Amino acid sequence: MTKSEKSNSAAETSARERLYLFDTTLRDGAQTNGVDFTLADKIEIARMLDELGVDYVEGGYPGANPTDTNFFAERRPMRGRLTAFGMTRRPGRSASNDPGLVALLDAEADAICFVAKSWDYHVRVALETTEEENLASIRDSVRAAKAKGREVLLDCEHFFDGYKANPAYALACAKVAHEEGARWVVLCDTNGGTLPHEIERIVGEVCKLIPGDCVGIHAHNDTEQAVANSFAAVRAGARQIQGTLNGLGERCGNANLVSIIATLKLKPEYAARFDIGVSDEALSRLLPLSHRLDELLNRAPDRHAPYVGESAFATKAGIHASAIVKEPKTYEHVAPERVGNKRKLLVSDQAGRSNVLAELERIGLSLPKDDARVARLLDEVKEREAIGYAYEAADASFELLARRTFGQVPHYFDVERFDVNVEQRINAKGERVTVSQAVVKLKVGSEELISVAEGMGPVNALDLALRKDLGKYQSFITGLELTDYRVRILNGGTQAVTRVLIESTDETGDHWRTVGVSANIIDASFQALMDSIVYKLMKSGAPA
Ligand SMILES: [Zn+2]
Repeated sequence: MTKSEKSNSAAETSARERLYLFDTTLRDGAQTNGVDFTLADKIEIARMLDELGVDYVEGGYPGANPTDTNFFAERRPMRGRLTAFGMTRRPGRSASNDPGLVALLDAEADAICFVAKSWDYHVRVALETTEEENLASIRDSVRAAKAKGREVLLDCEHFFDGYKANPAYALACAKVAHEEGARWVVLCDTNGGTLPHEIERIVGEVCKLIPGDCVGIHAHNDTEQAVANSFAAVRAGARQIQGTLNGLGERCGNANLVSIIATLKLKPEYAARFDIGVSDEALSRLLPLSHRLDELLNRAPDRHAPYVGESAFATKAGIHASAIVKEPKTYEHVAPERVGNKRKLLVSDQAGRSNVLAELERIGLSLPKDDARVARLLDEVKEREAIGYAYEAADASFELLARRTFGQVPHYFDVERFDVNVEQRINAKGERVTVSQAVVKLKVGSEELISVAEGMGPVNALDLALRKDLGKYQSFITGLELTDYRVRILNGGTQAVTRVLIESTDETGDHWRTVGVSANIIDASFQALMDSIVYKLMKSGAPA
């Protein structure tokens, strides 16, 4: 970089405006159906968010449940601001006489985010109080939290619906908080039904009265536009975006901060105008972070998620693949590695030679285009896909197939035989139970090993028995875990074959998929399990 370029980029940096990110995965995201964070989960997710570089981490609602109360019972130091959520004082009470508010003020947090009604209809019907008393409640609560030395935010619930019904009152709620010294007034699309052009217009109106660098947006995804709504608010002047990792949240979720962060960092329109707390380095770990959250929730990652989905940069057809190899920009809107993702060319029965070559290159096997073994591999992929294998969904099985074609997979062990037994019987308590047991006989070098395991079902029993004792290789597979198991019956009827797809992970956070196909579901599962174990041994550098 020359001297003048350096000073140019410094000038650009200072010209950019700061945009703040507020994460509510641990509060609003915890409302998701089926999500139940433990205290340990919360601590870990807060740490992940802080490392990512979000400015505010909303940890929960102290006083609402024991987990959240415990989370705020002690100081949890972080770079960003740990935020506690709660209600403004109850109508008809003083701030010091409201136990909920007192608990919130005592929480070990840097900031307090109050939620208050800003729709006159809700004030009357849900709160059963007067418009004036609701305004007084906002004023008193902001004042009490400021007196405690906390930074204050006010979430204006149902702001957009409220604004449409009674703009003067919705604005009055926002204004009273701002005038009392709240750092942020956050406009919430609580029902998630507002459209981007409406958000842009209404936020624009608010920013005439309250400076945009004190205005935030909290969008829900009920019309699948929460991310677009967040950007509409920013265009209209708002400078704080609230959202959750992977768009977690009740109903259809909150604005997805993963997509928002990637867009803010990678789209010139935003990247040139705004600075956020997320570094390029943290951005490059966005995919593992997103997947780590899924893992904590025991969910399979969304393969089609923008930026971080496994399919986000996957291309199937042969003609596209040959173009993408020549010039990736032709088919990719951003470079996948910026967010920690990978370009993927799907190997499938439609695939041309260029897909296979590109996929070989990705796994580190560069061969001349006219190498006869490439044609042999392509034929084999086609033959196998014709009987049901699906290599585009099983990257690890494809890699094993390719490396075997080139004689690069070490011979680790043999399974001499296995036996899986399912028994239904009456147990000692007189209950009818089904028990699965597997016996596996392995040969590792000159060692003969027999393992027996009981499992939740025949496949689980077989998996447990296979991985119970691999002799000298055992230490290489201790971190191996199966994270997903899917079965599909192909071509129905008596000729049906079963395809099993297994997803595995290990201590490094890597994910890989393997496939097995057979008329017998146990045999199909066995193939996929074996591929997963052999792949893990190979990638861990286990000696042959
Ligand atoms: Zn919400």
